[in-house]
Amino acid sequence: MACSLAQVTQLTCPSCSVDFVTELWIIIDTDERGDLYAALADDSIHDVLCPHCGHVGRVDAPLLVCHTVLPTADRLNRAGPIYTKPVRRLFFFPPLNQAGVSDEAIAVSLLNVLRDRLGEEWKAFARTKLVSVPRPLLALAIADDPEAGLARIRGKVAVQLAQLKWEKTKGQQNTSNRITH
Ligand SMILES: [Zn+2]
Repeated sequence: MACSLAQVTQLTCPSCSVDFVTELWIIIDTDERGDLYAALADDSIHDVLCPHCGHVGRVDAPLLVCHTVLPTADRLNRAGPIYTKPVRRLFFFPPLNQAGVSDEAIAVSLLNVLRDRLGEEWKAFARTKLVSVPRPLLALAIADDPEAGLARIRGKVAVQLAQLKWEKTKGQQNTSNRITH
């Protein structure tokens, strides 16, 4: 069974206030869905077009990405952990404002969905390390050298996390399924 999954979601357009239903990707295996890589790389994967008025906005949704990290010798920047063969990694991108639900709880629920979809194949995947990455760093995480990139901007990540925590405490209820401008 394919492990990539899009979830049918009802949204309310912030521009024309009309409700509509769309599909949001919440689990993507980049080996399986290479066609979605470009939308991941420019982080437009959760941009949604309102079918009524044409407004385009971003939905604040969680995302689990299965991605194969290249062997060290094939990477442009060879800093970071040394891999002699391609390594499958799981990256979790928490939503920016998920009022009342912890990032960990969301990650666990997505992992449970993935496990159910993979069945026996999960055994191979179960040893894969889950890396939680702030959403603004999505493109970096799935680049051909994520570890070195993440190590370089470690300080920047800490700042981003602090900002996200601050935004969370300010976050309002019931906004998670609305498109933001
Ligand atoms: Zn609209």
